[in-house]
Amino acid sequence: MLEMFFPDIYIKSIFDLPLDDLKKRGINTLFFDIDNTVAPFDVAVPDEKTAGFFGKLKEEGFKVCLLSNNNKKRVELFNRPLKAHAVWKAGKPGIKKLRQVIRKLGETKYTSAIVGDQVFTDMYCAHRAGILAVYTEPICSRDQLITKVKRGAEKIVLKIYKKRAGI
Ligand SMILES: [Mg+2]
Repeated sequence: MLEMFFPDIYIKSIFDLPLDDLKKRGINTLFFDIDNTVAPFDVAVPDEKTAGFFGKLKEEGFKVCLLSNNNKKRVELFNRPLKAHAVWKAGKPGIKKLRQVIRKLGETKYTSAIVGDQVFTDMYCAHRAGILAVYTEPICSRDQLITKVKRGAEKIVLKIYKKRAGI
């Protein structure tokens, strides 16, 4: 049961994404959580390094989509320089909107991965949809209040995961 919250791949930051490994697994579409995955939750626009990385992902042939539970204003503003696909109010860990956009992009659960910093939303969402779950350590310890509450339980899940994975 706890496995529903475990990452398939664990990385320190999005810049450590194993692109060749993902390609070998047949993944060509990456769904990114925004807050504390791609940027601190209280930073409105991506920095140059992040924008450059998204450019690189596209050059490497990946379809890139922001998948955020945050609101339209936050997601649209953040996405302006990235020009990625974007879904706001995604309802993670619900999978309805995720499935819709996977279909819209002409992809499948086998070609998609979610990259995110929360086990109860991002990882759970990925597993429910049957897609690859990539966990990144949160960018900073500042969190929205609602997220803060979940972090305690999250720590326990990750501790068990790491012990089993030998990390
Ligand atoms: Mg997040």
